[in-house]
Amino acid sequence: DLLVVGSANADLVTRVERRPGAGETVLGSDLVVHPGGKGANQAVAAARLGARTALLARVGDDGHGRLLLESQRAAGVAVDGVLVGGAPTGVALITVDPSGDNSIVVSTGANARLTPADVRGAAPLFRAARVVSAQLEIPLATVVETVRALAPGSRLVLNPSPPAALPAEVTAVCDPLIVNEHEARFLLGDPAGDEPRAWVRGLFALGPRSVVITLGSAGALVAEGPSAPAVLVESPRVTAVDTTGAGDAFTAALAWRLSLGERLVTAAAYAVRVGAAAVTRRGAQDSYPTPDELPAG
Ligand code: ADP
Repeated sequence: DLLVVGSANADLVTRVERRPGAGETVLGSDLVVHPGGKGANQAVAAARLGARTALLARVGDDGHGRLLLESQRAAGVAVDGVLVGGAPTGVALITVDPSGDNSIVVSTGANARLTPADVRGAAPLFRAARVVSAQLEIPLATVVETVRALAPGSRLVLNPSPPAALPAEVTAVCDPLIVNEHEARFLLGDPAGDEPRAWVRGLFALGPRSVVITLGSAGALVAEGPSAPAVLVESPRVTAVDTTGAGDAFTAALAWRLSLGERLVTAAAYAVRVGAAAVTRRGAQDSYPTPDELPAG
């Protein structure tokens, strides 16, 4: 099974003619509410592909929390690990201007209350998980506890997003550490240079077992170990409409295929197809494919 440990947010989206300045009010279009958050997105993406998936997360006892639980259930995610209460559901307040640029305020809410004790309370989920996938929209202490809770033989996939400095205890078990270009640059510090193959070596210096760098339309650079070659896994060519949530779809697909026992490069060849499918439709969770909707590899 796949266990996703992470965030769940309601994305509240309104279109504006221009962003308000200090003290100013502007009118926006009718509000649209989407389920989001990197943890919730990953769980939905994996389940839609057919993965047996559980989510460990925290939402508020409110309408947004119920929306998130419903979208997880509809995708087939096991939600007994979704804890309710303690703070309002995490919310992303998103304004989109006519050029398509976003301004986003995130209220982390219940995500910030997902605690190490919550991880310890989810022991059965960890026992069942061959792969655990985590991100950083929850407290770092909770991610550290996730590492400690891994069952013998199970594997951690970590996407350090939003990027933050990681304790060695966490990086040492990442298999893989998955980053996009922005997260790679953050972890490497500047000047990182412009050569992703050099970034792979720099990221291995942080101690992970394997490394994946996603490169948008170019696909992903994959290294199965510090002395293995970095292999470019090309993404299928598609017409991109909206790249929101592509990285989450990629990571979820990769984590699931690893849980089936595939090699990292093989799993990445599947994951680029899932990421590519996700950019051909609007939204994050709404854009995630079923297996019959994948482009050829
Ligand atoms: P993030 O969404 O985290 O920034 P990327 O942009 O690197 O991550 O995208 C993740 C994956 O989604 C890529 O490895 C690729 O497989 C797929 N993808 C993203 N953008 C495109 C695109 N324009 N065309 C085809 N595939 C894409």
